Amino acid sequence: MVRELFRKFKEIGGEFKQLKVVGFERSDRIKSVVLEDGSVLNADEVVLCAGAHTGQLSNLLDEPIPLETERGYHTQIMAPKISLKHSIIWPAKAFVISPTAGGIRIGGTVEMAGLDAAPNYERAKISVKHACKTLPELKVQESSQWMGHRPALPDTIPIISPSAKTYGVFYATGHGHLGLTYAATTAKLIGQLLFNENLDLDISPYSIDRF
Ligand SMILES: Cc1cc2nc3c(=O)[nH]c(=O)nc-3n(C[C@H](O)[C@H](O)[C@H](O)COP(=O)(O)OP(=O)(O)OC[C@H]3O[C@@H](n4cnc5c(N)ncnc54)[C@H](O)[C@@H]3O)c2cc1C
Repeated sequence: MVRELFRKFKEIGGEFKQLKVVGFERSDRIKSVVLEDGSVLNADEVVLCAGAHTGQLSNLLDEPIPLETERGYHTQIMAPKISLKHSIIWPAKAFVISPTAGGIRIGGTVEMAGLDAAPNYERAKISVKHACKTLPELKVQESSQWMGHRPALPDTIPIISPSAKTYGVFYATGHGHLGLTYAATTAKLIGQLLFNENLDLDISPYSIDRF
């Protein structure tokens, strides 16, 4: 689905660059985005949606936000020797087992260790151990592990908001455990903000200046 959205984005004129943003140029409003290769992209509007890294970018605009990373892990088992028709969630042990097109995925845990610490895959192994107890037939073969960052705010409510400091800057971050679920709704609201359209809902609870 994401690939199809990407294809459509390019079809209607979107341009894709995969480079780190390292700075901004601004006067009373945003003027441009500076990339790691030194190139500059002029822009009247900029949406900051860099997940848990958005705080590093907002700092560059003198607009700190109390954003942390809740790190999580998953293990993908390509040949599990069992099949599942639905996900199994075990809240007390903080993990989920889900069927995917490429096997079974065991995900979960919350680790507060910042953006820079190396992954601790022992955490992924613990979830796999619990999953094997839940599903004794499960075989852990051909597996891979992954660590990701959940962008977390202290009140667990995302920021979907124009900047309070720099005209032309918008924020879409802090979706925590539900960033995939809320992606389309957030994109729609940000689009409505950018194009000055009527908003589907009152976004004041998601304002950046609530902290
Ligand atoms: C184990 C685990 C399981 C999860 N399960 C679910 C689930 O079942 N359902 C759900 O809804 N959510 C789930 N989530 C949460 C979800 O993954 C996040 O909420 C979501 O990815 C946040 O989306 P985002 O676009 O804000 O940030 P990200 O997905 O983190 O994307 C941010 C992007 O910005 C880029 N970036 C960062 N800094 C810069 C920079 N300086 N310049 C340019 N680019 C930059 C990054 O490279 C990245 O591509 C899970 C998370 C984890 C860790």
